[in-house]
Amino acid sequence: MLIQTTFQPEQLYAAVHELVRMAYPKHELTRDESELAGIKMHMEMQVNGEQVCLFGWMTQRDKRTVREEKHDIKWTGDTRRREINRMVRRFAYDLLVEHTGQSINSYGILTGMRPVKLVHRMLDQGMDTEHIREQLTDSFRMSPEKAELIMEVAANNYPYLVRKQQANNIIGLYIGIPFCPTRCYYCSFPGAVYKPGDSLQSFLTALYQEMEAIAKCLKEMDTSVQSIYIGGGTPTVLSEIELEQLFNHLQRLFISSATAEITVEAGRPDTLSPRKLKLLKDGGTNRICINPQTMNDETLVKIGRAHNRKEVVRSVIWAREAGFKQLNMDLIVGLPDEGSQDYQRTAEDILALAPENITVHTLAVKRGSRMAEREGRESVGDRIKNVQEGLTLMDRLFRDNYYKPYYLYRQKYMQASMENIGYSKPGHFCLYNMNMIEECQTIVGLGGGAASKFINASDGGLRSFYNPKNPVAYAETVDKLIATKVDNLKAVH
Ligand code: SF4
Repeated sequence: MLIQTTFQPEQLYAAVHELVRMAYPKHELTRDESELAGIKMHMEMQVNGEQVCLFGWMTQRDKRTVREEKHDIKWTGDTRRREINRMVRRFAYDLLVEHTGQSINSYGILTGMRPVKLVHRMLDQGMDTEHIREQLTDSFRMSPEKAELIMEVAANNYPYLVRKQQANNIIGLYIGIPFCPTRCYYCSFPGAVYKPGDSLQSFLTALYQEMEAIAKCLKEMDTSVQSIYIGGGTPTVLSEIELEQLFNHLQRLFISSATAEITVEAGRPDTLSPRKLKLLKDGGTNRICINPQTMNDETLVKIGRAHNRKEVVRSVIWAREAGFKQLNMDLIVGLPDEGSQDYQRTAEDILALAPENITVHTLAVKRGSRMAEREGRESVGDRIKNVQEGLTLMDRLFRDNYYKPYYLYRQKYMQASMENIGYSKPGHFCLYNMNMIEECQTIVGLGGGAASKFINASDGGLRSFYNPKNPVAYAETVDKLIATKVDNLKAVH
């Protein structure tokens, strides 16, 4: 169905369109008057001196909902702009809830990826728990359950976050290896599919050039690397010799006594061997991710993964034999045709393997993936119910087994009430994930598809920069990428 939105001033659209999409997933929005529109939504805002007047209505067939509010403004500067924006979103949220007769987002007016950051800001301001809870449920319209969840996550990870003044003295490093042996059907990520025998030399030459240049810049700025995360793609598509070379570079250029954590995404069990795992361990890796997604072999075939449950178990045994004491396993809830029994079995299988970290993702089908088309044919209501059941079931089982939720983020294309959650046994929280997700320290991303985030310690401002994920484009533009990154590092230092 087409939804017509008319806003005065037009800028209101930017503040509220995500909420409209959450209320009406899979419907199209138009900002022009249209005879074809089945739902019409109108909003107006006037700021008269120290007062904001909001007026709005919605119509659908013979149903009409009207709302009008006036608020005094007591703020100035940036706070005034932010508070007016929140007022507008609250107004739109209440109008949508009244018109649809149901909750549209358990995160209330929060539509961004990082809801926990809001709690950190409140903790920084010295607010107590009761006041934070009240703010989240009243001003942000969050459900009491989600408010409790993000407060719990914030309380768990707050002590481990790099403080703003240190954001550029001790940074995180991301190395992107954008190759996978095959492409999973729900994914649009990998820059390239790697076939045995393919040469990665031009990509690796560019990566090493980037590593040398950035290490030199960090040294000049007296900056240390706290954590290194080697992700992708699937970094373990690299041969043993290539992995050894990569770690020689890391040891020489970035690893120091300040480096507390080195993670490798050994995501696909079909790319692992005992020798490779031993080599990663000897290179300094102290955290490894083996990602089954599900322990159901039929589903693994349906999503295009070339491994099975047995191979996952075998890889975990190899990892423990290689000496890894920090193991993460990623799961996805919402894979095709999976239901409560599958979620239960997967969760129990994973618990039997006793990883220190478990990350539970909600399937967010990316545009451009092979599953995007199938997604369009499913009922939204059924899907939400299924996924919520899976998330609740896993949450209960993992908490019963002493795992705590310690980081959380949401994604684009994610349904209204859902999120990805990192669980951990006490004492095993991943530094990189917490600081990267909460945007507390500068992250320098090197390699294909790597994202960099430069934090300005004086005002908390953030600049993001992305390397191309296509390895050929990356290698061709590496000189420019280095120059931009060095400029950004110097600007925030
Ligand atoms: S392994 Fe990860 S990055 Fe590679 S295709 Fe599958 S989901 Fe995408």
